[in-house]
Amino acid sequence: MIALNSPLKPDLKKIQKYLEQVNDNGWFTNFGPLHNELTAKLEDYLGVKNLLLVNNGTSALQVAAKTLGTESILSTPFSFVATASAFMWQKDDVAFADINRNSYNLCPIAIDDAYRKGCKADTVVATHVYGNPCDVEAFDELSENKNIKIIYDAAHAFGIKIGNDSVLNYGDASTLSFHATKVFHTIEGGAVVFKDKANFDKAKELINFGIQATNEIIDVGINAKLNEYQAAVGLVNLDEMDNVLHHRAGLFHAYCIGLQEIVEIPSWHPQANVNGAYMPIKLANYNQLIKVTEILKENNIQSRHYFSPSLDKIFVDNFNYGTVNCHQVCAGILCLPMHAHMSLADVAKVITIIKKAL
Ligand SMILES: *Cc1c(COP(=O)(O)O)cnc(C)c1O
Repeated sequence: MIALNSPLKPDLKKIQKYLEQVNDNGWFTNFGPLHNELTAKLEDYLGVKNLLLVNNGTSALQVAAKTLGTESILSTPFSFVATASAFMWQKDDVAFADINRNSYNLCPIAIDDAYRKGCKADTVVATHVYGNPCDVEAFDELSENKNIKIIYDAAHAFGIKIGNDSVLNYGDASTLSFHATKVFHTIEGGAVVFKDKANFDKAKELINFGIQATNEIIDVGINAKLNEYQAAVGLVNLDEMDNVLHHRAGLFHAYCIGLQEIVEIPSWHPQANVNGAYMPIKLANYNQLIKVTEILKENNIQSRHYFSPSLDKIFVDNFNYGTVNCHQVCAGILCLPMHAHMSLADVAKVITIIKKAL
C-alpha cells in the first residue's frame, strides 16, 4: 500500500533524553525550558522573529485574530475547514471571495472587487494553499490602501521562502500547524508569527489566561500553551527537517515531471521554493477524478479529494462574493500520496497508474 500521508516518527531514544530533562527540571508546561529552546531554534530555522508556540494550528488562527482585534473577515473558500470555522467559533464574521484559477490561492483582484461592492471586513485571511505562497506583494498593497489587516494561514508553508525571505514575514500575522500530519510536527501544536513585537507580547499573555507578567489580568484570555512533551517532539523532529524537506521536494519535482503534460498542477509562486507538503493535481472534470481515484484504490494507493467541498458550500449562510474559480478547481482536485517515508519508486508507480487511467 502507498499511503496518502505518514507522520514523522520521532527517535524514541532522543525523546527519552528530553523527557528525562523535563523530569529533572520539574517543569512540564507554561513556557518551560524546552518550549523556549524550540522557539529559538524555530525562529532561527525559519528566519523569523516573534514566533509564539501554541497548542494547535486552529488556536493559532484564533489567537492571531484576537490579538489583532479582528471582527470581520474576508477569506478563501479553498482551504481546510479550520481556516473559516476557527474564526466563526469566536463569532467573527467570515465572508468568501474567489481564488486565482491558476495558483488556487485567494485572489487579490477578487478581494479588491469585494471591497468595491461594499465589503467592510477589517481583516483578510489567506491560505498559502499546499505551501504555494499567495501573491503577497498584492496583499501588502491592499493592506496599505484599504487599511486592512492580513492574516496568512501558513499551515502548509513550513520552510517556504520567497527569494531569501520566509513567507511567514508577510502580513500582520502568519499561523502554522504542527499537527502530526504536517511536514513538521509536535503531535498537536502550532505557532503564530507576528510582524510586531507588541502583538507577540500581547498574544503571549492571551494564551495564558490573559495573565500579565505583573500577575494582573487585563484581558479575556484562553489557555493555548504548548507543553514540554510537545516541545521535545518538536526538537527531535526539527533535527530531521533539512533531510525531510529535501526529500519531499525531490518527490514533488518527480511527480511534476511525470504528470505535468497530462494533468493540471497549481502554478507556483515564481520566487518560492517547494516543501512537498502536498501533491495536488487537478483533473479535467469530476468523472475523470472518480476514474483516477478508483484505479489508484484498486492498486492500493490512497488519494484524497482535498479540498472539497469548498468552504462556501459548507458554510452556506456566510456572505459570498462569487467563487466560480474555486468550484472549478474543487470539481477536479486530487491529492496524491506525499510523505517522508515514500520513495521515488513509489512516485513512479503512482505516475504510471495515472497515465494508464488517462
Ligand atoms: C491543518 C490545518 C489547520 C489546523 O491545524 P491544527 O493544528 O490541526 O489545528 C488550519 N489550516 C490549515 C490550512 C490546515 O491545513
